[in-house]
Amino acid sequence: MTLRPVRYAASWVLPVSAPPIRDGAVLVDARGRIAAVGPAAAVPTPDDAERVDLGEAALLPGLVNTHCHPELAALRGLLDDLPFDDWIPTLLAAKRGAALDHEDYVLAARWTCAEALAAGMTTLAATEASAAAAQACREAGLRALVYRETFGPDPAQAEASLAELAAAVDQLRRGETDLVRIGISPHAPYTVSDRLFRMVADYARAEALPVAVHAAESVVEVELVRAGTGRFAAGLRARGIATPPRAASTIALLEATGILGTRPLIIHAVYVDADDRHRLADHGATVAHCPIANARLGHGTAPLLEMLERGIVVGLGTDSVASNNRLDLLEEARAAQLGQRVRHASGTLLPSDELLRLATIDGARALGIDDRVGTLEPGKDADLCAVSFAGCNIVPVHDPVSALFHAARGSDVVLTVVRGRILYRDGRCLTLDVEAMRPRLDAAAAALRRARDAWRPRSG
Ligand SMILES: [Zn+2]
Repeated sequence: MTLRPVRYAASWVLPVSAPPIRDGAVLVDARGRIAAVGPAAAVPTPDDAERVDLGEAALLPGLVNTHCHPELAALRGLLDDLPFDDWIPTLLAAKRGAALDHEDYVLAARWTCAEALAAGMTTLAATEASAAAAQACREAGLRALVYRETFGPDPAQAEASLAELAAAVDQLRRGETDLVRIGISPHAPYTVSDRLFRMVADYARAEALPVAVHAAESVVEVELVRAGTGRFAAGLRARGIATPPRAASTIALLEATGILGTRPLIIHAVYVDADDRHRLADHGATVAHCPIANARLGHGTAPLLEMLERGIVVGLGTDSVASNNRLDLLEEARAAQLGQRVRHASGTLLPSDELLRLATIDGARALGIDDRVGTLEPGKDADLCAVSFAGCNIVPVHDPVSALFHAARGSDVVLTVVRGRILYRDGRCLTLDVEAMRPRLDAAAAALRRARDAWRPRSG
């Protein structure tokens, strides 16, 4: 795609790799790369360049969401206030009962893409059971790493699960682009047998596929892994699946089955003790920290500070709107700080400049794309967002980074750009027709609601 150079100016530019610049500018070349960053007076305006003056706003690297489920957009608010061991079966029952088709999931994923762009996200790391997010992110123009999920708690299912995964990945890889890449995700210890974990680890290594896994998320998962007890274990035994103790911890299980050797993205990592953090750091695994979903589902507060101190690379994730129920990475960063301050009874931990790194360059590092995005530096791809600083909720701005996380919200975003292409500006998504999507999303939501209400969660 041929672009014109664009010179963006704003009252604040936050390069992340350098201190904030008052009255700054960023020049983006015709290939969608950053050509210059600095005080406005020092950034040239080529003759053929378009000028975009953002006024009172912060211009920063696009936000990197290291964990979401775009295909679940129609489940927002559907499962509120259920305990986790009912939440998962109710989600599955609602999806099954609603009998949504592939196009419904693609539509939901498009909806999530529009929501993400409106909140300044330029990269999504998505896990999914369908092929919806990869298609939607391509259409939206987003950068994405899409991990195709595989399931199979019964060891006897492992070959069939792997064969199904490999066939899906073959298909998905044909649609890979420079911006949308494919990975795999053995879903979680309560849905994947040790045997399937081992086979997936071998497959990932042979095919050089990135791996993500939901892990160390909840008490019921810890009980299952450590002792073979609890409600997840009871559910598996009811299906004729044995539940012996598997390992000292989920992270130890992932190490023993070879998953940790693939340097995976660990989603949640709430229950990770000092030994687990040692294992994660040793293997170069990274973490998607989802503080709001962890809190809303009652999982607890992840030891974020301890993971960072151990040198583990951590990015921020919103998780799905079925659990969050927002897709707002600015709020996620604020929640990450609040959680650690509550946990450690401290008023100084995780200052705003650390939140800025978590939401941008550290997320990019967690996904292995920090050579291309995550900071505003010449030569990097121009993945940008701008957040208005003109609203009543933000004025006055004493410190732009503090204002960004503690006064602004995702809804204050006014511009989102991926590799030089403007995808969202002043309330309009330029690649997706949100209004046209609405009737089908409403119909899918109604079908899910009916299916949820027809489902009778077990009691007691
Ligand atoms: Zn998730």
